[in-house]
Amino acid sequence: MRAAGGVAARALRLVGDAVRPGITTERLDRIAEDAIRSAGAAPAFKGYHGFPATICASLNEAVVHGIPDTVPLKEGDILSVDVGAIVDGYYGDCAATFPVGKVSAEAATLMDVTRLSLEAGIERCRVGMRLYDISAAVQQVAEAAGFSVVREYVGHGIGRSMHEEPQIPNVGQAGTGPTLSEGMVFAIEPMVNAGKAAVRALDDGWTVVTEDGALSAHYEHTVAITADGPAILTVEDDG
Ligand code: MG
Repeated sequence: MRAAGGVAARALRLVGDAVRPGITTERLDRIAEDAIRSAGAAPAFKGYHGFPATICASLNEAVVHGIPDTVPLKEGDILSVDVGAIVDGYYGDCAATFPVGKVSAEAATLMDVTRLSLEAGIERCRVGMRLYDISAAVQQVAEAAGFSVVREYVGHGIGRSMHEEPQIPNVGQAGTGPTLSEGMVFAIEPMVNAGKAAVRALDDGWTVVTEDGALSAHYEHTVAITADGPAILTVEDDG
């Protein structure tokens, strides 16, 4: 799973490096697919329930599951990119939101807070903690900043399938839920909205947007629970 996570993390980093005004999300998708295939891995999303691309590219008010297209990115946009890779039957899954050029103060704060909410959730991935300690930590950071947490989409167990039990909501009651034990691996992925929490799906059958049209951000890591604490698997190998 470290190998799969490393490939996914490198693809995400290469996409992030390429994000700039004028580039299309279709081009970013090609960069991610080339990175994954050149590592001898397979894209986890392409063909998953019919999804047509390697990355999910969710722009501005899009929350998750956006389909790459030929529309050039514009200065001030924010783009959430989700990417997964498969190595030897094991999955890695990660996401981040990238600024396109200079973005508004609200957008920058939303991205910072969402990333910090993920870090707070990861910090709770320890033997003996309860599952919804993770959820509560994410929720607390996001809501303390005045933002809203998406309810309809959640993190998940991950391993030989992309989505395994349990579901990991981004809201919850600390001290409740299953007890965490060594060897569990979770994809933790807060989706945080600048406005209200409500979302809806577009007619393309994939793209999820905020109901009120406000910005949304999304960060994700695949994290293993070890005796030494949380181990983030979606990080690039040294060198
Ligand atoms: Mg995921």
